[in-house]
Amino acid sequence: MVKKLFHLSDKGSSDLKKSVLSCVITDFALIFPVMIIIRIISELLKPFTAGVSADMSNLWLLVLAAAAAAAVYWFACSYEYEITYGTAYRESEKTRIEVAEHMRKLPLSFFNRKDLSELTTNIMADCTSIEHAMSHVVPFLIGHCISITLVCLMIAFYDWRMALAVYCALPLSAIIICAASAIQTKYGGSLVQAKLDVSDKMQEYLEGIKVIKAFRLEGENFESLNKALKKLMRTSMFFEALVGSFIAAAVIVMQTGIGIVVFAGVHFITGATLGIIPFLIFLLITLRIYSPLIVVMELFAEFRYINIATKRMQSLREEPLMDGDGETVLKDGNIEFSNVTFKYNEENVLKNVSFSVKQGQITAFAGPSGSGKSTIFRLLPRFWDIDSGKITVSGKNIKEIEPERLMSYMSFVFQDVVLFNDTVYNNIKIGKMNASKEEIINAAKMAGCDDFIKDMPDGYETMLGENGCTVSGGERQRISIARAILKNAPIVLLDEATASLDSENELKIQQAISALVKGRTVLVIAHRLKTIAGADKIIVLNNGEIVEEGTSEELISKKGLYAHLYNIQQLSLGWSVKK
Ligand code: ADP
Repeated sequence: MVKKLFHLSDKGSSDLKKSVLSCVITDFALIFPVMIIIRIISELLKPFTAGVSADMSNLWLLVLAAAAAAAVYWFACSYEYEITYGTAYRESEKTRIEVAEHMRKLPLSFFNRKDLSELTTNIMADCTSIEHAMSHVVPFLIGHCISITLVCLMIAFYDWRMALAVYCALPLSAIIICAASAIQTKYGGSLVQAKLDVSDKMQEYLEGIKVIKAFRLEGENFESLNKALKKLMRTSMFFEALVGSFIAAAVIVMQTGIGIVVFAGVHFITGATLGIIPFLIFLLITLRIYSPLIVVMELFAEFRYINIATKRMQSLREEPLMDGDGETVLKDGNIEFSNVTFKYNEENVLKNVSFSVKQGQITAFAGPSGSGKSTIFRLLPRFWDIDSGKITVSGKNIKEIEPERLMSYMSFVFQDVVLFNDTVYNNIKIGKMNASKEEIINAAKMAGCDDFIKDMPDGYETMLGENGCTVSGGERQRISIARAILKNAPIVLLDEATASLDSENELKIQQAISALVKGRTVLVIAHRLKTIAGADKIIVLNNGEIVEEGTSEELISKKGLYAHLYNIQQLSLGWSVKK
């Protein structure tokens, strides 16, 4: 049940059982020293209570027994610490890796539905909530409740009235805690949503800080962040007040339980039906077990997100992965789109698109912005799956090929190059993780990166900063071309690789691309139509449909959309800023 409740792995649930057991053992390990100390005190008090002197040999035996019991307690505590905290942190590390790995295999359509801050929360905050509850609350809550029940059963053999007095507060507290849990489940969603809104707005604010400053939008943007923060404050206060009052009530009931034990004990002592020593033992045992349970109950507020966190984690893990054959071998780079229709949301973005790309040829895609060129590039490696029609590579339907396998046949050079906060060397190595140093440097040379890398302070070992903020646009592009060269895949997808660059950079990138495309099947999108004039075939898209197909010369003489776009670009080439 616990396994299902907290979505634990088999190992996690068996470790949790061990933690609960270790908590019970620790509770009992402390009861024995307490009992022995009381026996020592009663032995020492003998001259006053029984009028006889203390039995020294008995006393020494008791001291030895107390030392042994303390040693057992120490071992029990160490074991409990290791098993409880170690388990929680190992389980949470495993979950984080599993979730990240699962997300890596999800189709991009999933990421289109979710925003980044929600996913980050899923991996970090949800795992932390579960980790904290598993290390500080769950094992102790269950363990102490079991200990109290067992202790009460033991006391019942001696005096059932005292056992009842010790036990009576527990069920009532448990009912109140269950009510608090139900409230947390009911209202916790709105709290989580308020938190997500804040992190979303904060991220938007920080990401857009340059634009915000440039256009003096501080007020407006800050206002929406401010509203989200205020909403979070109101929701948190409402939630804390509601749940907090239930938890406080449960704690008060438990503390009253200690009073009940004292009251019952004194009553039975005065009625001469209970001795002082047994009463002291019952009282110390009660205090010993009640006190940590009260602390755990106070921590129950930690549970506030655990239901929601585990549910969200579960729904993430249940998101269907893209499957397919991981062993498929593609013999050539022939690509075929047959009647492909696709939509991101409601509207079809590609409508009955059919075309073919021949092995070893350069096929270019042209058309106005938003006509669907990049979408074609996202469908080919299965970033998204199509709604109808068929895409084949080397005659094989890509829906039947595992995305990672399919991707191993393709290299990408996208406009938005993602660089990691790592060395240049490792950033290039991403193209082929098992590449040798020689291969990496060779790829960097072919992509025209070698010169500027050598000029960097630590050469190939220079750190690039977050998302490669320390390199220029043209250098980023060349690093991504070096990655693609290193990958050495038979199909190359180039997306607007030469957009927004100065002419020196453009020339270097052209040279790098020439090295990359040699002998490969190439699909290219270029905004500047002159860069694709030499392509074997140009496919012209408009509004998600193919409107023209042919070589640059054929299309210009057709005087259609391509010719129109080409003429506009010829005119715009001569633009300049004038006063
Ligand atoms: P192009 O590359 O020709 O400029 P795209 O393929 O990027 O065009 O986009 C085609 C259409 O799909 C556009 O209307 C665009 O708004 C829409 N679109 C692109 N990406 C997404 C996305 N991730 N989610 C929803 N709509 C998208």
